Amino acid sequence: MTELEKNLQTIYERIANAAARANRDPRTITLVAVSKTFPADAVLAAHALGVRHFGENRVEEATDKIPAIAAQLVSATRVPTWHLIGHLQSRKVRDAVPLFDAIQSVDTVALAQRIEQRAAQLGKVMPILLEVNIAGEASKSGFAPAPREQFFAATRAILALPHLDPQGLMTIAPMATAPDDPRPRATFRALRELRDAVRATFPERAWQHLSMGMTDDFEAAIAEGATIVRIGRAIFGTRAP
Ligand SMILES: *Cc1c(COP(=O)(O)O)cnc(C)c1O
Repeated sequence: MTELEKNLQTIYERIANAAARANRDPRTITLVAVSKTFPADAVLAAHALGVRHFGENRVEEATDKIPAIAAQLVSATRVPTWHLIGHLQSRKVRDAVPLFDAIQSVDTVALAQRIEQRAAQLGKVMPILLEVNIAGEASKSGFAPAPREQFFAATRAILALPHLDPQGLMTIAPMATAPDDPRPRATFRALRELRDAVRATFPERAWQHLSMGMTDDFEAAIAEGATIVRIGRAIFGTRAP
């Protein structure tokens, strides 16, 4: 068994166990393998092992990698789904919209409007998540969760854009400083509560996705209702700095 195969097996087991503890069906949790900094070959190996969702955080890197991988998989029956998970600069929207299948990191109304324009040009409807900076960390992007009326106003503006398909919320938790640090789980709970409020206010959409949880905190995220976990290091190994 390769290292990658072992890592994936361990991750699937941990996802299943976390789901069982939360009385959840593990099939409601999508694993996005975060392949940033790893070469196309690593993605192809994971794809051969059945991984279908991949995450990248930089448009430049993805511009080379995604088409190279697509060229290797022309005859594959199930092609990968690519998620943009990192901050998207407005000048990169032009390239990002045709490359990615979903954008999880929509963090301003202005950015949503740019994606709308480009998606309209391409005749594409882009699945998106609204990124929320729950903990208010200066180092992170995302909508402020409060005041809620302000967040709802932004949501309302985005819902009016016909080439965007808002499917839920995404967040990155503060890095735990100790194994019993309560902040990651509190952040995930707050995102779920915000999603429930958004759903009550805008019931015309399902708001089915909560993208939360990474290598160090995905089990807490599953306990709080994550439907998408974004895992890099535990699958592909440590990244070069
Ligand atoms: C890098 C990254 C991940 C994955 O982080 P790991 O610690 O490698 O699991 C998840 N989400 C975002 C937004 C990232 O940038």
